[in-house]
Order: sequence, then C-alpha cells, then structure tokens
Amino acid sequence: MKPMIPTPTPRLINELQSFGARLVDPKAGHESRRGGAGPSDHKAITIDGTTVMVPVHTAPAFESPYLVEKPDGLGRSRISRDGVALASVSFPPRPRFYDLSTADGVPYWKIAVLHGRDVLATTVLQTCIRYQSRTKTCRFCAIGQSLAAGRTVERKTPQQLAEVASAAVRLDGVTHMVMTTGTPPGRDRGAAILAESAAAVKAAVDLPIQGQCEPPSEDAWFWRMKEAGIDALGMHLEAVTTDVRERIMPGKAQIPVARYFDAFAAAVPVFGRGQVSTYILAGLGDTQEAVLATCERLIALGVYPFVVPFVPISGTPLESHPAPSPAFMHDILAPLARMLRASGLRAADVKAGCGRCGACSALSTYEREAVA
Ligand code: SF4
Repeated sequence: MKPMIPTPTPRLINELQSFGARLVDPKAGHESRRGGAGPSDHKAITIDGTTVMVPVHTAPAFESPYLVEKPDGLGRSRISRDGVALASVSFPPRPRFYDLSTADGVPYWKIAVLHGRDVLATTVLQTCIRYQSRTKTCRFCAIGQSLAAGRTVERKTPQQLAEVASAAVRLDGVTHMVMTTGTPPGRDRGAAILAESAAAVKAAVDLPIQGQCEPPSEDAWFWRMKEAGIDALGMHLEAVTTDVRERIMPGKAQIPVARYFDAFAAAVPVFGRGQVSTYILAGLGDTQEAVLATCERLIALGVYPFVVPFVPISGTPLESHPAPSPAFMHDILAPLARMLRASGLRAADVKAGCGRCGACSALSTYEREAVA
C-alpha cells in the first residue's frame, strides 16, 4: 500500500515559496514566468487542488531540499523532501490560447499570460518611469527583462487585450484578469491606460478585472476606472516602513505611505470593502510587527492586505537578497489570517486579481485554516 500523502499545509507552501523547488524535468508544465513586473521566476504547481507559484529559477531554488519528480503522461507528479513523498502535484496545462496570434502576427502569449490556474495576467505598459534610472528603480523589479528578451511587447493595445481575453475565456476557462502597468509619465500614474484597456475587454467578454497602479494624483480616477469596467483595484505598498521603502524602491517611495492610505480611503467606497487590495513583499527589511500593524490599519479601512514572501529575481539588484524564512512568513500570515477572519474580509470574496488568485502566498491557506 502506498503511504498516505497529506493535503498541502500552510507550512509546506511557506517552505516551497521560501526555498523554491528543483524540477527533475525543467520542461514540466507550461512556460515559467521569467522577468516581467512584480514577482517572477516561478512555475505554477497544483498541490492537491491548490495552485501555488513556486520559485524554480532563483538562486535559492537550485539548492532547495524540495524535488518535483518528472510528471507522468497526464502531468501528475510528486513532491518529495529527502526522498520522502510529501504531496501529489500536477502542472496546469499549457493554455490553448498560447497557440494563437493577432491578425498582425503578435503571439497571444506576448500580450497576456496565464497565472496560477485560471488568471489571465497582462502588463499593459511594459516600461516604467521608475525603471529608467538605477537610482529610482524598484530593486526587486524585472519589468524590462522580458521586454529586452523579446518575450512581450511594450504596449498592449485595448483591441489586442480584448481579443486575447476573449480567447482565454473561450479556450481555457480563465475566470478573472489582472491588468498591471509600469508607471507612465503623467499624473494619472497608469489609471488612464488601465481604464481604456478594461473598457475594451469588458465590451468583448464578461470577465472580472483587477487593475493595479500607483495611487493616481486625483481620486476621481477611481470612479473612472470603476465605470470603465475595473472591478477590483490594487495599489501596492510593497514595503511598509519609510526607510525600507527608500532603500528598496527609491522612486516609488516618493509617494509616501500616507498618500497610499488616503487613496485607499477614497477607493474603498468606489470599489467596495475587500475589493481594494495592496501587495506587501515580506522579507525586504520590514519587521513582522511593522507589517502586521500596517495590515491592521488596512483591514480597518476595508483593504485586503496580500502579503507575499519576497522572491529574489535573477538579474535584478536584489538577486542575492535572501528570501524570508518560512518561520518569518508563518509569524506574519497566521496572525494576519486571524485578523482577516475577525474582520470578515476573505480572499474568496475578492472579485478579481492577486488576492483572489492567492498563488503567490500561503495566506489563503492560512485563511482556510483559521476558518476551520
Ligand atoms: S497572486 Fe497575482 S501575481 Fe501571483 S500568480 Fe496570482 S495573479 Fe499572478
């Protein structure tokens, strides 16, 4: 009789996201996310029904104690540590929309990609005012890498996004969409291109959309984005204390945390409680206490704090920065899940985006455990 394999625990997911995993077959599953905006160098792996993004191309992943065996003909595999099988895993199949191209010959996968299990993700504008200069760039970001490598196009037009979103729904059953953007010059900070892109997608297909941008300088943009079809909004703090923000993201830190909180307070009545979120990268220098105190303030405003472990991306200035330990993540995510539970905010209620997907963090697994 085979030994019983337990369902994934928050501990296993935390360890996988901190240490990464070695793949016996690097070609298993569909293409990994490499470069691009935000976290990258991961592969989507489904562990007993829960899809998580696991670092596989980072320096720590090459030394990871976790090993994913070569999948069988149906894409099924096992994950083991020191020769002991811990869970059965599978890889989301290559999306069918990846085989299509626009009329002008751009492959759909250069316009948007599959994240997690059922999320369509795009970076509408693949350049950023902050990425141009070494003194301003966010030190964790790889937005220019996939562009330089020819894996994406600089500006995805509203028509292209509508075409790809329709195909991804029809062929691959995606259930929501994330639209992020590099920050363009101008006071709207990307809200305008997100709004025009969302309007085109919504005219073509009924798909919940999360927009992600820096706080625009006028709060009126929140209504404009909502009216254009954006269902949920992400404005990402990334780090929470001023000195860490100034060190890690000197350009973006020019917009102070106080402006983010004003923007959150203005956006929640527009999008609804729990439909505005922020992404916090734990492990960049903020203490657990600082992260949790910020999350407490966010939750009080009705903002969902999506806390993910920092992943050092190859080719970025932080490629040698350590990922946070599983214990560090546990000491944030366990109390955070209890706070969320007490407030009634749930990942499962977020209409679209990273909070709903949850694949980059063990947070939603902790939330389910807190409920149980
Ligand atoms: S949590 Fe966000 S960034 Fe991570 S896989 Fe899901 S949609 Fe992509």
